Amino acid sequence: MIQPLFIANWKMNKTVAEAETFCRAFVQQPLPIDRTVVVCSPFTALASIRQILPNTIGVGAQTMHQADSGAFTGEISAPMLVELSCQYVIIGHSERRQYFAETDATVHEKILTALRYNLKPIVCVGELLVQRQNNETETVVRTQIQAAMRELSTDQIANLVIAYEPVWAIGTGLAATPEQAQAVHALIRSLTSAQTRILYGGSVTPENITSLMAQPDINGGLVGGASLDVQKFLQIINY
Ligand code: PEP
Repeated sequence: MIQPLFIANWKMNKTVAEAETFCRAFVQQPLPIDRTVVVCSPFTALASIRQILPNTIGVGAQTMHQADSGAFTGEISAPMLVELSCQYVIIGHSERRQYFAETDATVHEKILTALRYNLKPIVCVGELLVQRQNNETETVVRTQIQAAMRELSTDQIANLVIAYEPVWAIGTGLAATPEQAQAVHALIRSLTSAQTRILYGGSVTPENITSLMAQPDINGGLVGGASLDVQKFLQIINY
């Protein structure tokens, strides 16, 4: 049985002061011991939230560069994240693919770098609306997963976190149905391993999380909008 994993993706939201306020309120409430929780804040807040959150809650970045160091103005490297005691990093979020030209090739390079630095990659995959309408979901997701996993050992694949995030469901209020999500999660399961944690992301709310989590291959959620609110994120974790 895989322990349910819930990851907050704050995107470009919360100043350091706002992030600290969230975390101080969040730690007031006990979390169930059989859930893993990770908060992915903007880079600027990582050091502060790490100090407030107990070690039982993971901290992650929302992206990183694939190179160890160098002339990449504005970028952040894996050793910089490790120095801040980050344990996770989101790689290949659809917003990074759409607005920052990330490709399956750069996603793959970033995964290899993250693993070299002992950062757990949270690898995002998912189809666009037009691809779903053209019945291309399976091909798109299969291609993204196969590119991501190239050169990885069986152990590394077992330790990956994969987030299936249909692009049409992100930030739209239109989540995939549990059946739609499960169909793609079953495909991802068949391409990865029984141990790989496969999260659903895309308009997760306190109202829809229970039916999503009832699906056999959904092991948790990558939560955007609803994770900005302490009570909503807690309700999702306590589904
Ligand atoms: C996300 O950004 O990964 C996400 C799933 O966002 P939302 O929950 O707001 O749809």
